[in-house]
Amino acid sequence: MKELIEKYNTPVPRYTSYPTVPNWKPDTFQKESYLNRLTDGFAQANADGISVYVHLPFCESLCTYCGCNTRITINHKVEEPYANAVVKEWALIQNRFTDTPRIREIHLGGGTPTFFSPPNLKMLVEGLLEGADIPADASFSFEAHPSNTTQEHLDVLRSLGFDRISLGIQDFDLKVQKAINRRQTVEDVDRVMRGARKAGYRSVNFDLVYGLPFQTMEGVRDAVEKVIELKPDRIAFYSYAHVPWMHPGQRAYSEADLPGPQLKLTLFTMGRQMLLDAGYEAIGFDHFALKSDSLYKAYADGTMHRNFMGFSDLRTDYLIGLGVSSISDIRNGFAQNIKAVEPYIEKVNNGILPLFKGHLHTEEDSFIRDQILNLTCRHHTSWKDETPARKDYMRNCLPHLSECVNDGLAVIGDDEVSVTEKGRVFVRHICAAFDADMHQAEVRQRYAQGV
Ligand code: SF4
Repeated sequence: MKELIEKYNTPVPRYTSYPTVPNWKPDTFQKESYLNRLTDGFAQANADGISVYVHLPFCESLCTYCGCNTRITINHKVEEPYANAVVKEWALIQNRFTDTPRIREIHLGGGTPTFFSPPNLKMLVEGLLEGADIPADASFSFEAHPSNTTQEHLDVLRSLGFDRISLGIQDFDLKVQKAINRRQTVEDVDRVMRGARKAGYRSVNFDLVYGLPFQTMEGVRDAVEKVIELKPDRIAFYSYAHVPWMHPGQRAYSEADLPGPQLKLTLFTMGRQMLLDAGYEAIGFDHFALKSDSLYKAYADGTMHRNFMGFSDLRTDYLIGLGVSSISDIRNGFAQNIKAVEPYIEKVNNGILPLFKGHLHTEEDSFIRDQILNLTCRHHTSWKDETPARKDYMRNCLPHLSECVNDGLAVIGDDEVSVTEKGRVFVRHICAAFDADMHQAEVRQRYAQGV
Protein backbone atom coordinates (compact mmCIF):
# COMPACT_ATOMS: atom_id res chain seq x y z
CA MET A 1 0.00 0.00 0.00
CA LYS A 2 2.81 2.42 0.89
CA GLU A 3 4.36 2.09 -2.60
CA LEU A 4 1.00 2.78 -4.24
CA ILE A 5 0.37 5.81 -2.05
CA GLU A 6 3.80 7.08 -3.01
CA LYS A 7 3.14 6.47 -6.71
CA TYR A 8 -0.27 8.16 -6.68
CA ASN A 9 0.85 11.13 -4.61
CA THR A 10 0.08 13.41 -7.54
CA PRO A 11 -2.25 16.43 -7.79
CA VAL A 12 -5.94 15.54 -8.12
CA PRO A 13 -9.12 17.40 -7.08
CA ARG A 14 -11.17 16.39 -4.05
CA TYR A 15 -14.33 16.15 -6.21
CA THR A 16 -16.73 17.84 -3.84
CA SER A 17 -18.10 19.22 -7.12
CA TYR A 18 -17.91 18.67 -10.85
CA PRO A 19 -16.72 20.75 -12.59
CA THR A 20 -14.34 21.63 -9.75
CA VAL A 21 -14.31 25.30 -8.72
CA PRO A 22 -11.13 26.29 -10.67
CA ASN A 23 -12.74 24.88 -13.82
CA TRP A 24 -16.06 26.71 -13.62
CA LYS A 25 -16.82 28.80 -16.69
CA PRO A 26 -17.55 32.21 -15.12
CA ASP A 27 -17.99 33.88 -18.52
CA THR A 28 -21.06 31.76 -19.20
CA PHE A 29 -22.54 32.33 -15.72
CA GLN A 30 -25.55 34.61 -15.58
CA LYS A 31 -27.21 35.28 -12.27
CA GLU A 32 -30.74 35.37 -13.69
CA SER A 33 -30.28 32.09 -15.56
CA TYR A 34 -28.99 30.48 -12.37
CA LEU A 35 -31.95 31.82 -10.38
CA ASN A 36 -34.39 30.55 -13.03
CA ARG A 37 -32.83 27.09 -12.72
CA LEU A 38 -33.10 27.37 -8.92
CA THR A 39 -36.86 28.02 -9.22
CA ASP A 40 -37.52 25.51 -12.01
CA GLY A 41 -35.87 22.56 -10.25
CA PHE A 42 -37.05 23.40 -6.75
CA ALA A 43 -40.30 21.37 -6.55
CA GLN A 44 -38.58 18.16 -7.59
CA ALA A 45 -35.59 18.66 -5.28
CA ASN A 46 -37.81 19.70 -2.40
CA ALA A 47 -39.86 16.48 -2.58
CA ASP A 48 -36.90 14.68 -0.99
CA GLY A 49 -35.83 17.66 1.11
CA ILE A 50 -32.98 20.13 0.73
CA SER A 51 -29.73 20.93 2.55
CA VAL A 52 -28.67 24.30 3.92
CA TYR A 53 -25.08 25.30 4.69
CA VAL A 54 -24.38 28.46 6.70
CA HIS A 55 -20.89 29.98 6.70
CA LEU A 56 -20.11 31.77 9.97
CA PRO A 57 -16.70 33.33 9.27
CA PHE A 58 -15.60 34.83 12.61
CA CYS A 59 -12.72 33.44 14.69
CA GLU A 60 -11.04 35.08 17.68
CA SER A 61 -7.55 34.19 16.46
CA LEU A 62 -6.04 32.85 13.26
CA CYS A 63 -4.85 29.25 13.17
CA THR A 64 -1.88 29.74 10.88
CA TYR A 65 -2.50 26.61 8.77
CA CYS A 66 -6.11 27.64 8.04
CA GLY A 67 -7.42 27.58 4.47
CA CYS A 68 -10.97 28.78 5.25
CA ASN A 69 -12.56 32.14 4.53
CA THR A 70 -12.35 33.80 7.97
CA ARG A 71 -12.63 37.18 9.67
CA ILE A 72 -10.43 37.40 12.75
CA THR A 73 -11.92 39.59 15.49
CA ILE A 74 -12.55 39.65 19.22
CA ASN A 75 -15.42 42.08 18.76
CA HIS A 76 -18.57 40.05 19.31
CA LYS A 77 -20.81 42.94 18.24
CA VAL A 78 -20.40 41.54 14.71
CA GLU A 79 -22.58 38.53 15.55
CA GLU A 80 -26.04 40.08 15.44
CA PRO A 81 -25.87 42.01 12.14
CA TYR A 82 -24.31 39.00 10.45
CA ALA A 83 -26.89 36.53 11.76
CA ASN A 84 -29.68 38.92 10.74
CA ALA A 85 -28.19 39.16 7.24
CA VAL A 86 -28.09 35.37 6.88
CA VAL A 87 -31.78 35.14 7.80
CA LYS A 88 -32.56 37.90 5.28
CA GLU A 89 -30.57 36.10 2.58
CA TRP A 90 -32.59 32.95 3.27
CA ALA A 91 -35.82 34.99 2.89
CA LEU A 92 -34.57 36.35 -0.47
CA ILE A 93 -33.88 32.81 -1.69
CA GLN A 94 -37.22 31.53 -0.40
CA ASN A 95 -38.93 34.15 -2.60
CA ARG A 96 -37.65 32.07 -5.52
CA PHE A 97 -39.14 28.83 -4.19
CA THR A 98 -42.49 27.58 -5.38
CA ASP A 99 -43.38 25.77 -2.16
CA THR A 100 -42.58 25.50 1.55
CA PRO A 101 -38.97 24.27 1.87
CA ARG A 102 -38.43 20.87 3.50
CA ILE A 103 -35.09 21.24 5.28
CA ARG A 104 -33.52 17.84 5.68
CA GLU A 105 -30.03 18.96 6.54
CA ILE A 106 -28.40 22.06 8.08
CA HIS A 107 -24.69 22.47 8.66
CA LEU A 108 -23.14 25.44 10.45
CA GLY A 109 -19.52 25.79 9.31
CA GLY A 110 -16.88 28.46 9.36
CA GLY A 111 -14.96 30.16 10.72
CA THR A 112 -16.04 29.21 14.20
CA PRO A 113 -19.80 28.77 14.63
CA THR A 114 -19.26 28.63 18.41
CA PHE A 115 -17.81 32.19 18.21
CA PHE A 116 -21.52 33.13 18.24
CA SER A 117 -23.36 33.22 21.56
CA PRO A 118 -26.04 30.55 22.07
CA PRO A 119 -28.87 33.18 21.91
CA ASN A 120 -27.56 34.51 18.58
CA LEU A 121 -27.27 30.98 17.15
CA LYS A 122 -30.82 30.34 18.33
CA MET A 123 -32.05 33.49 16.60
CA LEU A 124 -30.25 32.47 13.40
CA VAL A 125 -31.49 28.88 13.32
CA GLU A 126 -35.05 29.83 14.26
CA GLY A 127 -34.98 32.30 11.36
CA LEU A 128 -34.05 29.45 9.00
CA LEU A 129 -36.65 27.07 10.37
CA GLU A 130 -39.55 29.53 10.44
CA GLY A 131 -42.16 28.39 7.95
CA ALA A 132 -40.09 25.37 6.85
CA ASP A 133 -41.09 21.70 7.03
CA ILE A 134 -38.64 19.47 8.89
CA PRO A 135 -38.89 15.78 7.89
CA ALA A 136 -38.49 13.07 10.54
CA ASP A 137 -35.09 11.97 9.22
CA ALA A 138 -33.62 15.51 9.21
CA SER A 139 -30.10 15.82 10.61
CA PHE A 140 -28.44 19.09 11.67
CA SER A 141 -24.76 19.51 12.50
CA PHE A 142 -22.22 22.18 13.44
CA GLU A 143 -18.48 22.66 13.73
CA ALA A 144 -17.56 23.06 17.38
CA HIS A 145 -14.25 24.55 18.53
CA PRO A 146 -13.15 22.43 21.53
CA SER A 147 -11.89 25.46 23.47
CA ASN A 148 -14.95 27.69 23.26
CA THR A 149 -17.93 25.33 22.97
CA THR A 150 -20.04 25.56 26.12
CA GLN A 151 -22.73 23.25 27.43
CA GLU A 152 -25.19 26.04 26.62
CA HIS A 153 -24.14 25.92 22.95
CA LEU A 154 -24.70 22.17 22.93
CA ASP A 155 -28.05 22.33 24.72
CA VAL A 156 -29.48 25.24 22.71
CA LEU A 157 -28.56 23.69 19.35
CA ARG A 158 -29.78 20.26 20.47
CA SER A 159 -33.16 21.80 21.35
CA LEU A 160 -33.33 23.14 17.77
CA GLY A 161 -32.81 19.68 16.25
CA PHE A 162 -29.01 19.49 15.96
CA ASP A 163 -27.83 15.91 16.46
CA ARG A 164 -24.23 15.84 15.14
CA ILE A 165 -21.12 17.85 15.98
CA SER A 166 -17.72 18.03 14.37
CA LEU A 167 -14.67 18.92 16.47
CA GLY A 168 -11.49 20.30 14.91
CA ILE A 169 -8.65 18.44 16.67
CA GLN A 170 -5.79 18.53 14.08
CA ASP A 171 -3.10 17.34 16.56
CA PHE A 172 -2.55 17.24 20.32
CA ASP A 173 1.23 17.79 20.14
CA LEU A 174 2.05 21.08 21.93
CA LYS A 175 4.86 22.01 19.51
CA VAL A 176 2.54 21.52 16.54
CA GLN A 177 -0.29 23.41 18.28
CA LYS A 178 2.07 26.32 18.97
CA ALA A 179 3.20 26.46 15.33
CA ILE A 180 -0.38 26.43 14.02
CA ASN A 181 -1.54 28.79 16.79
CA ARG A 182 -4.31 26.50 17.90
CA ARG A 183 -4.32 25.47 21.53
CA GLN A 184 -6.71 22.88 22.82
CA THR A 185 -6.28 20.08 25.29
CA VAL A 186 -7.52 16.50 25.40
CA GLU A 187 -9.56 17.64 28.41
CA ASP A 188 -11.32 20.31 26.29
CA VAL A 189 -12.24 17.71 23.69
CA ASP A 190 -13.35 15.21 26.34
CA ARG A 191 -15.51 17.86 28.02
CA VAL A 192 -17.29 18.78 24.77
CA MET A 193 -17.77 15.13 23.80
CA ARG A 194 -19.25 14.20 27.16
CA GLY A 195 -21.49 17.27 27.03
CA ALA A 196 -22.67 16.34 23.55
CA ARG A 197 -23.46 12.74 24.56
CA LYS A 198 -25.31 13.98 27.64
CA ALA A 199 -27.35 16.39 25.53
CA GLY A 200 -28.32 13.55 23.16
CA TYR A 201 -26.15 14.13 20.07
CA ARG A 202 -26.03 10.90 18.10
CA SER A 203 -22.76 11.40 16.22
CA VAL A 204 -19.45 13.11 16.95
CA ASN A 205 -16.84 13.71 14.22
CA PHE A 206 -13.17 14.61 14.74
CA ASP A 207 -11.02 16.35 12.14
CA LEU A 208 -7.35 15.35 12.21
CA VAL A 209 -4.64 16.70 9.89
CA TYR A 210 -1.37 15.13 8.80
CA GLY A 211 1.51 17.04 7.21
CA LEU A 212 1.43 19.96 9.73
CA PRO A 213 4.65 21.70 10.82
CA PHE A 214 6.78 19.76 13.34
CA GLN A 215 4.64 16.62 13.16
CA THR A 216 6.55 13.45 14.00
CA MET A 217 5.70 9.76 13.99
CA GLU A 218 5.57 9.75 17.81
CA GLY A 219 3.35 12.84 17.98
CA VAL A 220 0.82 11.61 15.41
CA ARG A 221 0.81 8.11 16.94
CA ASP A 222 0.06 9.67 20.31
CA ALA A 223 -2.70 11.90 18.86
CA VAL A 224 -4.38 8.98 17.07
CA GLU A 225 -4.14 6.84 20.23
CA LYS A 226 -5.87 9.59 22.20
CA VAL A 227 -8.53 9.92 19.51
CA ILE A 228 -9.17 6.17 19.53
CA GLU A 229 -9.55 6.30 23.30
CA LEU A 230 -12.10 9.15 23.02
CA LYS A 231 -13.93 7.07 20.37
CA PRO A 232 -15.73 9.55 18.11
CA ASP A 233 -18.20 8.04 15.63
CA ARG A 234 -16.47 9.51 12.58
CA ILE A 235 -12.99 10.78 11.80
CA ALA A 236 -11.79 12.84 8.86
CA PHE A 237 -8.01 12.47 8.47
CA TYR A 238 -7.04 15.29 6.10
CA SER A 239 -3.84 16.08 4.27
CA TYR A 240 -2.45 19.57 5.01
CA ALA A 241 -2.11 21.66 1.84
CA HIS A 242 0.75 24.16 1.99
CA VAL A 243 -0.21 27.10 -0.25
CA PRO A 244 1.19 30.22 1.52
CA TRP A 245 0.62 32.38 -1.57
CA MET A 246 -3.10 31.76 -1.08
CA HIS A 247 -3.12 31.67 2.74
CA PRO A 248 -0.38 34.00 4.05
CA GLY A 249 -0.91 32.79 7.64
CA GLN A 250 1.02 29.68 6.58
CA ARG A 251 4.14 31.89 6.35
CA ALA A 252 4.29 31.71 10.16
CA TYR A 253 6.47 28.64 9.64
CA SER A 254 8.78 27.67 6.87
CA GLU A 255 8.69 24.78 4.44
CA ALA A 256 11.64 23.28 6.32
CA ASP A 257 9.36 22.88 9.37
CA LEU A 258 6.98 20.61 7.44
CA PRO A 259 7.38 16.84 7.34
CA GLY A 260 8.96 15.85 4.01
CA PRO A 261 6.93 13.85 1.47
CA GLN A 262 8.16 10.48 2.76
CA LEU A 263 7.36 11.25 6.38
CA LYS A 264 4.01 12.76 5.42
CA LEU A 265 3.07 9.54 3.64
CA THR A 266 4.19 7.47 6.60
CA LEU A 267 2.09 9.61 8.95
CA PHE A 268 -0.95 8.93 6.79
CA THR A 269 -0.40 5.17 6.39
CA MET A 270 0.38 4.76 10.10
CA GLY A 271 -2.67 6.76 11.24
CA ARG A 272 -4.91 4.98 8.74
CA GLN A 273 -3.79 1.55 9.89
CA MET A 274 -4.25 2.47 13.55
CA LEU A 275 -7.83 3.55 12.86
CA LEU A 276 -8.59 0.39 10.89
CA ASP A 277 -7.08 -1.76 13.66
CA ALA A 278 -9.26 0.06 16.18
CA GLY A 279 -12.43 -0.98 14.32
CA TYR A 280 -13.05 2.05 12.13
CA GLU A 281 -14.17 1.45 8.55
CA ALA A 282 -12.49 3.45 5.78
CA ILE A 283 -14.93 5.55 3.77
CA GLY A 284 -13.64 7.19 0.63
CA PHE A 285 -10.02 8.28 0.78
CA ASP A 286 -9.76 10.12 4.09
CA HIS A 287 -12.86 9.39 6.18
CA PHE A 288 -13.38 6.70 8.80
CA ALA A 289 -16.52 5.71 10.71
CA LEU A 290 -17.67 3.17 13.25
CA LYS A 291 -20.08 0.59 11.83
CA SER A 292 -22.80 1.98 14.12
CA ASP A 293 -22.58 5.45 12.52
CA SER A 294 -25.12 6.58 9.92
CA LEU A 295 -22.37 7.58 7.47
CA TYR A 296 -21.04 4.03 7.41
CA LYS A 297 -24.58 2.66 7.00
CA ALA A 298 -25.22 5.00 4.04
CA TYR A 299 -21.87 4.00 2.53
CA ALA A 300 -22.65 0.29 2.96
CA ASP A 301 -26.12 0.52 1.42
CA GLY A 302 -25.02 2.73 -1.48
CA THR A 303 -26.94 5.88 -0.51
CA MET A 304 -23.99 8.03 0.57
CA HIS A 305 -23.69 11.43 -1.13
CA ARG A 306 -20.90 13.95 -1.66
CA ASN A 307 -21.19 17.71 -2.00
CA PHE A 308 -19.33 20.86 -0.91
CA MET A 309 -19.77 19.79 2.74
CA GLY A 310 -17.95 16.50 2.00
CA PHE A 311 -19.49 13.04 2.43
CA SER A 312 -23.07 12.97 3.68
CA ASP A 313 -25.42 10.19 4.72
CA LEU A 314 -28.36 12.10 3.21
CA ARG A 315 -28.76 12.54 -0.50
CA THR A 316 -30.31 15.87 -1.43
CA ASP A 317 -30.42 17.55 -4.82
CA TYR A 318 -30.26 21.12 -3.50
CA LEU A 319 -27.61 22.48 -1.17
CA ILE A 320 -28.30 26.15 -0.46
CA GLY A 321 -25.23 28.02 0.79
CA LEU A 322 -25.83 31.09 2.98
CA GLY A 323 -23.31 33.61 4.29
CA VAL A 324 -20.03 34.92 2.92
CA SER A 325 -18.17 32.73 0.40
CA SER A 326 -20.66 29.87 0.66
CA ILE A 327 -21.48 27.87 -2.46
CA SER A 328 -24.92 26.66 -3.52
CA ASP A 329 -25.26 23.47 -5.55
CA ILE A 330 -28.57 22.91 -7.37
CA ARG A 331 -27.38 19.90 -9.43
CA ASN A 332 -27.35 21.79 -12.73
CA GLY A 333 -25.68 24.92 -11.40
CA PHE A 334 -23.30 26.28 -8.77
CA ALA A 335 -23.21 29.80 -7.36
CA GLN A 336 -20.86 31.35 -4.82
CA ASN A 337 -21.46 34.34 -2.52
CA ILE A 338 -19.05 37.25 -2.21
CA LYS A 339 -16.34 36.75 0.41
CA ALA A 340 -16.17 40.00 2.39
CA VAL A 341 -18.48 40.52 5.38
CA GLU A 342 -19.51 44.20 5.06
CA PRO A 343 -20.43 44.14 1.33
CA TYR A 344 -22.32 40.89 1.97
CA ILE A 345 -24.41 42.48 4.72
CA GLU A 346 -24.98 45.61 2.65
CA LYS A 347 -26.18 43.72 -0.41
CA VAL A 348 -28.51 41.49 1.54
CA ASN A 349 -29.95 44.45 3.46
CA ASN A 350 -30.66 46.07 0.09
CA GLY A 351 -32.54 42.98 -1.09
CA ILE A 352 -29.82 41.78 -3.46
CA LEU A 353 -28.62 38.19 -3.52
CA PRO A 354 -24.82 38.47 -2.97
CA LEU A 355 -23.69 36.06 -5.70
CA PHE A 356 -20.43 36.78 -7.48
CA LYS A 357 -19.59 33.74 -9.58
CA GLY A 358 -20.86 30.34 -10.55
CA HIS A 359 -21.23 27.71 -13.20
CA LEU A 360 -24.22 26.56 -15.23
CA HIS A 361 -23.96 22.88 -16.12
CA THR A 362 -24.31 21.62 -19.63
CA GLU A 363 -26.04 18.24 -19.95
CA GLU A 364 -22.61 16.70 -20.47
CA ASP A 365 -21.27 18.29 -17.26
CA SER A 366 -24.22 16.74 -15.39
CA PHE A 367 -23.60 13.34 -16.94
CA ILE A 368 -19.88 13.36 -15.97
CA ARG A 369 -20.79 14.63 -12.53
CA ASP A 370 -23.09 11.64 -11.98
CA GLN A 371 -20.34 9.23 -13.07
CA ILE A 372 -17.90 10.83 -10.62
CA LEU A 373 -20.47 10.76 -7.80
CA ASN A 374 -21.08 7.06 -8.48
CA LEU A 375 -17.37 6.35 -8.28
CA THR A 376 -16.69 8.34 -5.08
CA CYS A 377 -19.80 7.21 -3.18
CA ARG A 378 -20.60 3.75 -4.61
CA HIS A 379 -17.29 2.66 -6.19
CA HIS A 380 -18.99 1.64 -9.41
CA THR A 381 -20.42 3.38 -12.45
CA SER A 382 -22.08 2.19 -15.63
CA TRP A 383 -22.93 3.98 -18.86
CA LYS A 384 -24.62 1.00 -20.59
CA ASP A 385 -27.93 2.82 -21.04
CA GLU A 386 -26.48 6.14 -22.18
CA THR A 387 -26.51 7.76 -25.62
CA PRO A 388 -23.87 6.75 -28.21
CA ALA A 389 -22.09 10.12 -27.73
CA ARG A 390 -21.79 9.59 -23.97
CA LYS A 391 -20.65 6.02 -24.45
CA ASP A 392 -17.97 7.35 -26.79
CA TYR A 393 -16.88 9.94 -24.23
CA MET A 394 -16.52 7.36 -21.46
CA ARG A 395 -14.81 4.83 -23.71
CA ASN A 396 -12.38 7.51 -24.90
CA CYS A 397 -11.48 8.25 -21.28
CA LEU A 398 -10.59 4.63 -20.48
CA PRO A 399 -6.95 4.90 -21.63
CA HIS A 400 -6.44 7.46 -18.80
CA LEU A 401 -7.34 4.64 -16.41
CA SER A 402 -4.80 2.12 -17.64
CA GLU A 403 -2.24 2.69 -14.83
CA CYS A 404 -4.97 2.28 -12.20
CA VAL A 405 -6.16 -0.93 -13.87
CA ASN A 406 -2.60 -2.29 -14.08
CA ASP A 407 -2.11 -1.55 -10.38
CA GLY A 408 -5.33 -3.40 -9.47
CA LEU A 409 -7.18 -0.24 -8.36
CA ALA A 410 -9.99 -0.35 -10.94
CA VAL A 411 -11.64 -2.95 -13.14
CA ILE A 412 -13.10 -2.09 -16.54
CA GLY A 413 -16.17 -4.09 -17.60
CA ASP A 414 -18.61 -3.82 -20.47
CA ASP A 415 -19.37 -0.06 -20.34
CA GLU A 416 -18.78 0.04 -16.60
CA VAL A 417 -15.96 0.62 -14.14
CA SER A 418 -15.59 -0.69 -10.59
CA VAL A 419 -13.19 0.51 -7.92
CA THR A 420 -11.49 -2.41 -6.18
CA GLU A 421 -11.06 -2.68 -2.41
CA LYS A 422 -7.43 -1.65 -2.86
CA GLY A 423 -8.43 1.24 -5.14
CA ARG A 424 -10.70 3.01 -2.65
CA VAL A 425 -7.94 5.24 -1.26
CA PHE A 426 -7.17 6.29 -4.84
CA VAL A 427 -10.72 6.87 -6.04
CA ARG A 428 -9.90 10.53 -6.84
CA HIS A 429 -7.38 9.36 -9.44
CA ILE A 430 -9.98 7.03 -10.93
CA CYS A 431 -12.47 9.94 -11.13
CA ALA A 432 -9.81 12.13 -12.75
CA ALA A 433 -9.71 9.75 -15.72
CA PHE A 434 -13.26 10.87 -16.61
CA ASP A 435 -12.82 14.56 -15.76
CA ALA A 436 -12.80 16.48 -19.04
CA ASP A 437 -10.80 19.33 -17.47
CA MET A 438 -8.10 17.05 -16.04
CA HIS A 439 -7.02 15.83 -19.43
CA GLN A 440 -5.03 19.01 -19.86
CA ALA A 441 -1.65 18.62 -18.14
CA GLU A 442 -1.51 22.19 -16.84
CA VAL A 443 -4.83 21.79 -15.03
CA ARG A 444 -3.30 19.09 -12.84
CA GLN A 445 -0.78 21.56 -11.47
CA ARG A 446 -3.52 23.60 -9.79
CA TYR A 447 -4.40 20.93 -7.27
CA ALA A 448 -2.73 19.95 -4.02
CA GLN A 449 -1.06 16.54 -3.87
CA GLY A 450 -3.39 13.53 -3.92
CA VAL A 451 -2.34 12.26 -0.45
S1 SF4 B 1 -8.92 26.63 11.54
FE1 SF4 B 1 -11.01 27.04 12.14
S2 SF4 B 1 -10.82 28.20 14.07
FE2 SF4 B 1 -8.81 28.25 13.09
S3 SF4 B 1 -8.78 30.17 11.91
FE3 SF4 B 1 -9.47 28.53 10.53
S4 SF4 B 1 -11.69 28.56 10.63
FE4 SF4 B 1 -10.91 29.72 12.41
